[in-house]
This record gives sequence, structure tokens and C-alpha cells, in this order.
Amino acid sequence: MPELPEVETIVRDLRPELLGRRLVSARLSHDDVLRGVSRRTLRAGLKGQTVTAVTRRAKHAVIATETRRLVVQPGMTGSLMVHRHDLTAAERRYAVLRVALDDGGTLVYRDVRRLGTLLWLDERGWRGYDSSLGPEPLDPTFTPRALRQILAGSRAAVKKVLMDQRAIAGVGNIYANEALFAAGVDPSKPANAVTAPATGRLHRHLVRILEAAIASQGTTFRDYRTGTGEAGNFQLELLVYGREGEPCRRCGTTLSGTHSIDARITVFCHRCQS
Ligand SMILES: [Zn+2]
Repeated sequence: MPELPEVETIVRDLRPELLGRRLVSARLSHDDVLRGVSRRTLRAGLKGQTVTAVTRRAKHAVIATETRRLVVQPGMTGSLMVHRHDLTAAERRYAVLRVALDDGGTLVYRDVRRLGTLLWLDERGWRGYDSSLGPEPLDPTFTPRALRQILAGSRAAVKKVLMDQRAIAGVGNIYANEALFAAGVDPSKPANAVTAPATGRLHRHLVRILEAAIASQGTTFRDYRTGTGEAGNFQLELLVYGREGEPCRRCGTTLSGTHSIDARITVFCHRCQS
């Protein structure tokens, strides 16, 4: 699923296309992606609204209007794009949400397997949603000290804590694997046993890697596309994710892959990470 750098890339691409635009009408092909809102309420709510902000929170794109926020969590096969032409048959086929803009463009949320979710939140709903999420790792308030406090509060595997959206927002499997390798930290280590120096390294590398991934427009393994339909490039810079069984780029040891920490693949070097 798209993580912080991918959704940040989408949001940066969409912002100039959507800011100040009035939403003329909305169509929804399926309502199984909706959470806490009906198709009728969403369509009626979007109609006539003006986009006041396009931001990101955690792994979600947030399109704010005068009254409510449309929160889009793109699933593994989800993409958000503004089209400036009539949609082709292929583009229409998996377009779950289509919003006509007052300048003739169309905002499309496309999702082949419909694993993503759409929320339509009023101020109160937004506050509840926002407060359920941990700090943004690229926010200046996310200091090494803040990370140390988060890790100190859990005996779970450090990788699980990094991926827990209530602890830290936006980090998923790819960037947790990469940050732990760069910092030389064993992903299965209890979070509260990570030393202060290791926490400092983890903080530094997590921030560095997320920023580098944004600069490369995210990681495209399969379906992810930017807000302009391009593939990302950060997959070229991954050191562990997707490389189990291949030699460690630092020491040459064969990288291990395990599913024992969480349901996802963890790839690590047992020599470089302790
Ligand atoms: Zn190694």
C-alpha cells in the first residue's frame, strides 16, 4: 500500500490541479470503498464545494472543502489523478470516484481491487481521525527524543512499532525495513530495548529515507503511480526490501526474509543488524 512518500507525491501533484477548484458533480461506481458515509451523502456533499487545501496525513490524501474533508487512503491498487481529457474506456473501467471540476478537469480515484477507503469527515470527525494517528515523522516536532519516548513505551518488535499508525504516522513495510537496515537495528528487537544511540540512528535514517523517497517520487513495486500517472523511482535505491536471498550491500551476507514479526515480509541482514 502506498506509504508516506507515495501519498506525499500524489498530494504535491494534485494540489495545483485542485486548489480553488469548484466541484461540479461526483459519481461513484461502487460504495464498498466508503467508510462512515453513504454514496448519496458523499455525492450531495461534494457537489458545489470549493477545494480549500490538499494535504497528507499518514498514508492518506486529504482534500479539504469549505465544510468537510474527503480523506482518501489509496489501497495497493489505488491512484488519484486529475485528467484533462475525456476518460478513455480503460480509465473509466476502474474509476471508483469521478469528480467533475469547474475548469473541465476530472478528479479520478481509480482502484482496480477497491482495497482503498474514502472518508467524508466534518470537523469533529476529522479531529477524531487526526488524534487517532501518531506524529508525522517529517514534522519538526518529531525529534530523536520523541522517537525514544515512543519506543520506550512498547515491548513489541521495533519494526511493529514503526509501522503502528497510532505510534508514528505514514511508515509502512517498505520504509520500516529500509530504516532499520540503515540504522543497523534488528527489526525483531523489543522497541524498549533499542539503545539511545541506535534510536538516534533510526531517527536520522528514517527521516533521511522518507525525504529521499519523496525526492524520487516514491517506490513503484507494482501499481503505485504518482498524481501525474508516472512510476516512482525509489525502488532503485532500496537496500533490503524485495531483496531477500540477495547479498547485503554492506557486508555481502545473504539477506534473510521472515514473516515471524508481523504478517508482512521483513528483510534484514543478521550480521549488520543487532
Ligand atoms: Zn550485512
